[in-house]
Amino acid sequence: MNKIGPESFPVNATDEEACDYAMASVHAFLHGELPDATADEIRRHLMICERCMDDFNIEATISTLVQRSCADAPCASQELRARITRLTLLSRRAS
Ligand SMILES: [Zn+2]
Repeated sequence: MNKIGPESFPVNATDEEACDYAMASVHAFLHGELPDATADEIRRHLMICERCMDDFNIEATISTLVQRSCADAPCASQELRARITRLTLLSRRAS
């Protein structure tokens, strides 16, 4: 399998390749680290790809939780952050 880089979304790629790319870029996308053109391509893919949309919703929810927990209520957030970190580690170990 080809290594997927963050610069060029595979416009003419098969659906599976586009999915791989979208998933590989999910964190950069959510953190606004992608070039506008690339982010647009991913957004467009999400509009037509239910599978990625579901995955992105999960990632986006976690990311939002983490960001929110960093922003306010440091006491309550510490436990939440620890819980999210544990979940992330568990899912990484599983894959
Ligand atoms: Zn997809």
